[in-house]
Amino acid sequence: MKEVKTPKKPLFLYYLGVLILLMLFNALLAPMLSSSAVKDVDYGKFMTRIEQKKIDRVEVEDNQILFTLKDDDTVYRTGLMNDPDLTDRLYEAGATFDKEIQQTMSPLTSMLIYFVLPMVIFIFIGQRLNKKLMEQAGGKGSMMFGMGKSNAKIYVQSTDGIRFDDVAGEDEAKESLTEIVDYLHNPSKYTDVGAQMPKGILLVGPPGTGKTMLAKAVAGEARVPFFSISGSEFVEMFVGMGASKVRDLFRQAKEKAPCIVFIDEIDTIGKKRDGQLGGNDEREQTLNQLLTEMDGFEGNNGVIILAATNRPESLDPALTRPGRFDRRVPVELPDLKGREAILKVHAKKIKTAKDVDFAAIARMAAGTSGAELANIINEAALRAVRQGRTEVNQSDLEESIEVVIAGYQKKNAIMTDQEKKIVAYHEIGHALVAAKQTESAPVQKITIIPRTSGALGYTMQVEQTDKVLMNKEELENKIATLTGGRAAEEIVFGQITTGASNDIEQATKIARAMITRYGMSEDFDMVAMETVTNQYLGGDTSLACSADTQNEIDRKVVEIVKEQHEKARSILEENREKLDELAGFLYEKETITGEEFMEILNR
Ligand code: ADP
Ligand code: ZN
Repeated sequence: MKEVKTPKKPLFLYYLGVLILLMLFNALLAPMLSSSAVKDVDYGKFMTRIEQKKIDRVEVEDNQILFTLKDDDTVYRTGLMNDPDLTDRLYEAGATFDKEIQQTMSPLTSMLIYFVLPMVIFIFIGQRLNKKLMEQAGGKGSMMFGMGKSNAKIYVQSTDGIRFDDVAGEDEAKESLTEIVDYLHNPSKYTDVGAQMPKGILLVGPPGTGKTMLAKAVAGEARVPFFSISGSEFVEMFVGMGASKVRDLFRQAKEKAPCIVFIDEIDTIGKKRDGQLGGNDEREQTLNQLLTEMDGFEGNNGVIILAATNRPESLDPALTRPGRFDRRVPVELPDLKGREAILKVHAKKIKTAKDVDFAAIARMAAGTSGAELANIINEAALRAVRQGRTEVNQSDLEESIEVVIAGYQKKNAIMTDQEKKIVAYHEIGHALVAAKQTESAPVQKITIIPRTSGALGYTMQVEQTDKVLMNKEELENKIATLTGGRAAEEIVFGQITTGASNDIEQATKIARAMITRYGMSEDFDMVAMETVTNQYLGGDTSLACSADTQNEIDRKVVEIVKEQHEKARSILEENREKLDELAGFLYEKETITGEEFMEILNR
C-alpha cells in the first residue's frame, strides 16, 4: 500500500519563515530602494539654488524638504529650518510644488516591487519546499498549499494490501464486515432490493485488538481506496481547522467513491456534549460538521465510514443514532483459539524451532490482545538473537510472555538475602494455596527474579480453558490465593511487608464486584450497586447506591476478604513442611516450573 502523507510541522515552519522574510524585506530592502535616488545637501545650498531660481519641483514635508533642479533628475533632500517665508521665496523662484517627489518609480513598478515580487518569490520557495517534503515523505509531489487541508492519509489500493486472512481470529467481526465488502463489490445487488448499507460502522473493543487492521482489510478485500485519519488529528492545531478538515476529507472521499473512510479514536471528537464548564468548542464544531456530512450523503453513494473506539459509552448519542454510526461491530480480546491463530500469523515472520507449541503459549498468555501477542513474538525473536541462536524456541516465547506482561528481568536489582527469602515464601504461599484448593488453576511457573515493572516475584497461573463463567466458590478461592502470599509471610516471619499491595488491590476488587455487581451476597440479592462505566479500559465503576448502603458494602467486602485470608492461613499452616520445602527450592533456584512444584508437593 502506498501512503501519501502531508507533513504538518514543516508546513508550519514554512509559514513562520515567510513571516520572518517579509519582515526582513520591509526592514532592509524597502528603505534601500526608496533612498537610493535621494541625495542629501545642506540648507545653504538649497537657499542658493532658490536664489539662482534653479528649483524645479519641491515638496515640503514634516521633517524634510525634497527638491529637484531644472537641469538634472536627482532628488535632493535637506533638513527643515525655521524659515517662515520659504514658501513665498520658492514661489517667486518659479518652483512647482509637488506632492510626491521622491516617488520616482511609476505606481505600477512600485506595486510590482512591493507586492508582486515578494509573493512570486515566496510561492516559488514554497513550491520547492513542498516538493522536497513530498519527496521525503515518499509520495509523488502534489500541490498542497492551502491551510486547513485534510491530513487524511490516502492509501492507494494495491494488491499487497491487508486481507481478512491477515487478521487472525475475530471471526464474528469479520463476518459482519463481509457484507460491506460484498456491497462494495456489487452495489446493485443491494440497491435492486432497495436495501441501504449503513453509512457508519463502529468498531468497538479494547486497544490492540486489530480494529485498524480490520478496517484496512475491508478496503483490501473490496479493492477500494482507504482514507484514514485519527480523531485526535481533527482537533490538534488551529481553531476552526477541525471542521474544515472533515469537509475536505469527505470531499476527497466522494471523489474516490466507492471507498472506505476510517476514523480512529472517534471518541476524541465524538464525546458526549454535556455542557461541561470549559467545553471544547472546537471539538463540538468538528463533531457537528461530521454529523452534517454524514446526513449529507444520499444513501448508497459508496462511501462507507468505519470508526474505531475503545470507549463506546462516552460517544455522543447523536453519533450513534440510526442513519449515522448505527452498526456496532465488537472486536473483543481473542480467546484461546484466537490467540493461537494470532501467534501463528505473526510467527510466520520469524524462524521458529519445530517443537514450538503455540497452543501452550496461547494458554499462558490469557487476556492478552493481538498487539501484545505480536509483541511477544517479536520479543522472543529478539531474545533468540541476543543468545546467538538462529531459531526461536519454546523458552524464548515463554520468557517473552513474562517480559510483555511483567516487564524485563532486572538483572542488577539489589535484593538482600532476607528479602529474597521473604519473596520466595510469599510466592510459594500464593501457589500452595492455589494448588490446595481443588478448583483453582494450577501454577505454571514461579520466579523470584525482580522485574522492571516493580514486581519482585511472579506467579504465572494458567487456566486450562478460557473461562466464561465463574462461580462464587471459584471467586472466593481466587481471593484466598491472592491473600496466600501475605499469609505465608505472617506464618513464617511473624511480620508483614509492603509486598502484598497488588494482591490486596486485586482481592478487594473481586470481593467488591461479588457484592455490587454479581449479586453474590444474600442481603443485597440481585440489585446492582455499581455500574461499569469504562468496560474496555480498565473497567472503572461508579457507585449507584445510598451512603448507608456503601457502609454496608464496605463492611461486607472486609468480611469476605478476611474469611478467605483466614482460610489461606489455615491451608498453609496445615502444609507448613511443604511450604518450607518449596520455598527453599525456589530460594535456591530462583525459578520453579509447574511440574517441579507438583512433584515436590506430591512426593
Ligand atoms: P487497534 O486498532 O484495535 O488498536 P491495531 O489494528 O492497530 O489495533 O493492531 C495493532 C497490531 O496488533 C497490528 O498491527 C497487528 O500486528 C496486531 N494484531 C492485533 N490484532 C490482530 C489479529 N486479530 N490478527 C493479527 N494481528 C493482530
Ligand atoms: Zn503476592
